[in-house]
Amino acid sequence: MTDVNPQTATVNAEIRIGNRTIRFSAQFSNEAIQLHELLPFFQNITDKVVEIAIAEVIESGKRISCHNGCSACCSHLVPISKAEGAALLNLIETLPEARRSEVRSRFAKNMAALEEAGSGLFDKLKKAALDHDKERIKAIGLAYFDLDLACPFLQDQSCSIHPHRPLSCREFLVVSDPVYCVKPDPAVVENVVLPKRVSSILYNMSSRDSNGDTGFMPLIQLLASAESIQIEQPAPAPAIDWVNRFLESLGG
Ligand code: SF4
Repeated sequence: MTDVNPQTATVNAEIRIGNRTIRFSAQFSNEAIQLHELLPFFQNITDKVVEIAIAEVIESGKRISCHNGCSACCSHLVPISKAEGAALLNLIETLPEARRSEVRSRFAKNMAALEEAGSGLFDKLKKAALDHDKERIKAIGLAYFDLDLACPFLQDQSCSIHPHRPLSCREFLVVSDPVYCVKPDPAVVENVVLPKRVSSILYNMSSRDSNGDTGFMPLIQLLASAESIQIEQPAPAPAIDWVNRFLESLGG
């Protein structure tokens, strides 16, 4: 799969996803980098996987209900990997001052609303990164959605960071009537099941075995956890090593 020279390595990959094949050829550095520096690559692969899922939905006679201007899913508890957390923190720093302050104050407002809502949700969210119980995380997510807290990046019903949006936002699609999305009842909301979830691979790659975390965190905790996100990034590794590890999980 790789052709290595001292500075770079070329990756020529063919990976079977669902009933299609993703092909790409790209060069990666042999220098050690942070995992989040490869996010454009992971975003690109996520978009390719989502395209495959959409094609399969259409072939099955259904259609994707998500459309411009619908932002019901932007009040969900958006899970992000710690690597994406680091990249989003950097992104916020590059925003013009007025916009940066607005985004920061929206995060603070949502965190205050969470605390005021009581029911222990604030504390549960703080510990979510260490919780491996998927059902419990799902229940926390539904309780969070009930609070109707729009994502701090949502602007005029659109994602203000669309090219940089988290992998889980890219992966979220429904085929059921969008009217049901205002109350995400699994009995009526039909999500598109992706053949592969790049977001989950990134959670695993972002997790640090030493402290047993899951590698993911709720987006809303981004600013409150800024310091720990930076500290808890996985150790830098050669880009080619990250890519090979990723492709192994994607193809496995
Ligand atoms: S990051 Fe963008 S797409 Fe994702 S929840 Fe926020 S506004 Fe919506």
